[in-house]
Amino acid sequence: MTAISEADAALFGNRFITTEVPSREFPATGMSAQDAFRLVVEDLALEGDPTRNLATFVTTWMEPEAQRIIAANLHRNFIDHAEYPRTAEIEQRCIRMLADLYHAPGETTGARTQGSSEAIMLGGLSLKWNWRKRRGSATANPNLVFGGDVHVVWEKFCRYFDVEPRIVPLRPGKYTIGPEDIEGRIDENTIGVAAVLGTTFTGHKDDIVGINDLLVRIKGERGIDVPLHVDAASGGFVWPFLYPDSAWDFRLEQVRSINVSGHKFGLVYPGIGWLIFRETADLAEELVFKENYLGKTDSTFTLNFSTGSSMVLAQYYNLVRYGRAGYTYVLKNMQTNARALGEQLTAMGLFELIGFHDEQLPLVAFRLAADNGFDEFDIAWQLSAERGWMVPAYTLPPDAQEVTIMRALVKETMCREHVDTLARDIAAACATLAKKGGAHESERRKIVTGSGH
Ligand SMILES: *Cc1c(COP(=O)(O)O)cnc(C)c1O
Repeated sequence: MTAISEADAALFGNRFITTEVPSREFPATGMSAQDAFRLVVEDLALEGDPTRNLATFVTTWMEPEAQRIIAANLHRNFIDHAEYPRTAEIEQRCIRMLADLYHAPGETTGARTQGSSEAIMLGGLSLKWNWRKRRGSATANPNLVFGGDVHVVWEKFCRYFDVEPRIVPLRPGKYTIGPEDIEGRIDENTIGVAAVLGTTFTGHKDDIVGINDLLVRIKGERGIDVPLHVDAASGGFVWPFLYPDSAWDFRLEQVRSINVSGHKFGLVYPGIGWLIFRETADLAEELVFKENYLGKTDSTFTLNFSTGSSMVLAQYYNLVRYGRAGYTYVLKNMQTNARALGEQLTAMGLFELIGFHDEQLPLVAFRLAADNGFDEFDIAWQLSAERGWMVPAYTLPPDAQEVTIMRALVKETMCREHVDTLARDIAAACATLAKKGGAHESERRKIVTGSGH
């Protein structure tokens, strides 16, 4: 047998059909663009299909026109405001439109961020700086109050920026927080309370009205003015359209800042979030850097510097393309399909749904109603192995850690036929498991997807 020659490989095909891919050493020589292209594309053929990823809140489909805007602007660095003033203006338009959507009372300010995580870091820093100003010569340790139902980024903020987290534990059957949980945790060193609109765990909201009313009362009775930040990473593009009369935003007096992920229900591909302040004065001005860069004065309020323009432009595209009517249309469709899925899961007689009739993100959170010799992790594994659906199973945060739930996001691209198929596939997975018993522990561990994304 003759060895395959380099020349034949170059002429006929893909050299990585029989060769290991470069993976450790910095390559000494390069390869042709075609080889490099095939190498990357073929590697990704083994990736999960984002359309069947019902774990992620992040957008997996945009319109072709939006994709064209994105592709055409990948070479534009967002931070070069002086060189790209139209992009900077479009960012400001998005901020003003979101402030309007969230009922800001007047002139306000905000920031484009990489996602809600950066927005929360910046919002938290502003809370800390404003607290310091309130306290005057503060030597005390600042604290931040939030529930165990928050995203991990809040604990990260506390650790990175040296703030004591005062976390309200959850308990079985109670997966959000309210005023009764936080009253005893607030003092004059509380930089703020963070409440969630649409938790990653079950898609519900904290009792934001109740928490606001408590903070108003504390301000009146004890003279401590504690700001409320709403983490609306998912909910900020859901509640205004599905529950427009439910107040959670700047309609409430103590809500001083809001973050939202453009790349979740804002329907933009990953890489965009927003931080919106109630009034310009709510942003601690010391955090805004006036800089002289390449001969031009600019002011920035960000954690990173260079970043792409495409997603800002894509966000603006969506805001003008859909408007309130379009977002309402899309979100209502998602909600209708989520309800259809929930009803089919209920009809199977195996599951209980969590807060299905409450205000909720368009998803179904469910758990097994009884022990059938297999658990939620087994179902997640079986469903992924049999049908390629990614539906995560996870335990809830303390003190509800013995509760395991599953959660299926119903995305924009999930049509009714997909919903019906998913329901049948879940029933089939449970039937398989009932026959063969639970999955092997090691198989199971591979597919336990985190819930926080
Ligand atoms: C997704 C999420 C975050 C983190 O947002 P990114 O945009 O992924 O950085 C924070 N909080 C909540 C409630 C979330 O759902």
